[in-house]
Amino acid sequence: MSTVEGPWSAAGRRPAASPRQDRWTVGVDAAAPRSPWGGTAPSRLHAVGDAGLVAGRALCLAPVTLLDPALWVWPDDGDEEWPLCWVCLALTC
Ligand SMILES: [Zn+2]
Repeated sequence: MSTVEGPWSAAGRRPAASPRQDRWTVGVDAAAPRSPWGGTAPSRLHAVGDAGLVAGRALCLAPVTLLDPALWVWPDDGDEEWPLCWVCLALTC
């Protein structure tokens, strides 16, 4: 009689909590946010996780247009022209 191995067994258990994702897809605001002084504010860059890729939603749940992951790196590509979403930044750091 052999012991049945299952996900509940101590052997082979992995730290399931907080699957660290070190690679985020970069998205940009689907709709440019309105600035209080009129016109539109610069679009912000957002981090998109695996779940958000399908839904087109960033970590902060803003609707985003996905950017080419070969060209854009979160959060390295943020600058004055492309400010980072601070909510996404807080969730990824
Ligand atoms: Zn965001």
